[in-house]
Amino acid sequence: MRLYNTLSKQKEEFVPIEEGKVRMYVCGPTVYNLIHIGNARPMIVFDTVRRYMEYKGYEVNYVSNFTDVDDKIIAKANEEGVSAEEISQRYIEECKKDMAAMNVRPATVHPLATQEISGMVEMIQELIEKGYAYAAADGTVYFRVKKFKEYGKLSHKNLEDLQSGFRALQVSGEDQKEDPMDFVLWKPKKEGEPSWPSPWCDGRPGWHIECSEMAKKYLGEEIDIHAGGEDLVFPHHENEIAQSECCNGKPFARYWLHNAFLNIDNKKMSKSLGNFFTVREIADSYDLQVLRFFMLSAHYRSQLNFSRELMEASGNAYERILNAVDNMKYFQKKAAAKELSAQEKEKLEEVRGYIKKFEEAMEDDFNTADAIAAIFELVKFANTNLQEDSSRPFIDEVLNTVVKLCDILGLKVEKEEETLDAEVEKLIAQRQEARKAKDFAKADAIRDQLLEMGIELKDTREGVKWKRV
Ligand code: AMP
Ligand code: ZN
Repeated sequence: MRLYNTLSKQKEEFVPIEEGKVRMYVCGPTVYNLIHIGNARPMIVFDTVRRYMEYKGYEVNYVSNFTDVDDKIIAKANEEGVSAEEISQRYIEECKKDMAAMNVRPATVHPLATQEISGMVEMIQELIEKGYAYAAADGTVYFRVKKFKEYGKLSHKNLEDLQSGFRALQVSGEDQKEDPMDFVLWKPKKEGEPSWPSPWCDGRPGWHIECSEMAKKYLGEEIDIHAGGEDLVFPHHENEIAQSECCNGKPFARYWLHNAFLNIDNKKMSKSLGNFFTVREIADSYDLQVLRFFMLSAHYRSQLNFSRELMEASGNAYERILNAVDNMKYFQKKAAAKELSAQEKEKLEEVRGYIKKFEEAMEDDFNTADAIAAIFELVKFANTNLQEDSSRPFIDEVLNTVVKLCDILGLKVEKEEETLDAEVEKLIAQRQEARKAKDFAKADAIRDQLLEMGIELKDTREGVKWKRV
């Protein structure tokens, strides 16, 4: 399996630290609002990476935090006159609902920054002891960037360029820094803000140290994959590397994966620009499986422009898979109880070819666009090769393969069997009786009655079908 590593700027063979295991950390959202579909992109993309790794037999320890202390959370809390905790708890719950609706599996652990403060304080302490950090007179603790010679290795910036950039940008008020490049590890509390005690002052951690500490606590000092959106490369991930490597004396993450932006009108979708749709808004018009399909129809390192037209096209394409699955289920019910024919055996080789194509695409830096193309070839194969007189093992194999490959991408293609209450079932049965007895007036009356109860019936060649309306 080859993946593109931002650190080396090339695709590298994946070799885990520990055989058969993957330690993966994905930076999670700051929770002060409903997530937008830009935030959903890393969630969907890296959930798919995880699913593929698991399919390959790896045991994946997947950690994704919630940043639950931040200026924006505090501002929102003040606006509403409630505590910062109330805001973060509310939006964590909402975020989890959105994740479930997009079929993004919960992480192995979702740590909260506010629950991990003591570990952060320890880490900062260690950085001070090792000479990589210092406390200024007002209690702010800074990381001493110049002391870490490899600073800039992830974002491919060199220290001199950075330094001159910072000199030009030097801001007053931060004069307690030894150097304008130094970044904050701990900051003193301000009135009305949540704070924790520390050896330097009552205050709260800087954003970067949160992830260094949570990755260390839940995954260890060295991890396999660290991921997030490409805006996090600098400074967030660069600073995480500096903190973790200086504190632990070991390389931090082997592979750094970054998704490109989801754009709208070719501009990054973001809360600050106000050009966003929340996942909730999109759920009003589309099945979120269609959103997932749309996200995966592009490679994760390519920019993706959101538009209603593309969502419609994704909806139609996804529907084609659903229809094929439905047809296969119909054939499955009707299937002749016979063994695989010689011709079917040969045809199954073709199916294996599509699985191989799918795997090759995924193993080439998770090329989900090509993986989806392989699924469509398989769907086309199913539509042309499955018949009412196909053998059951043949149908099963083709159907299971489509479902399995879609499941690796987190796409649900089997309609969830929903149960009806007894009264509705009785009415449907009575209507069938009436139809059999050619009492169409009665049959229609029952159908109308069911419609009033929110159940719409459709007579198909497979029998009567229903849906909620
Ligand atoms: P934030 O809450 O802004 O820290 O973002 C949470 C995650 O969403 C980070 O990994 C960001 O890089 C990512 N993200 C934010 N906006 C977008 C976007 N428009 N496209 C793709 N990823 C994004
Ligand atoms: Zn992070």
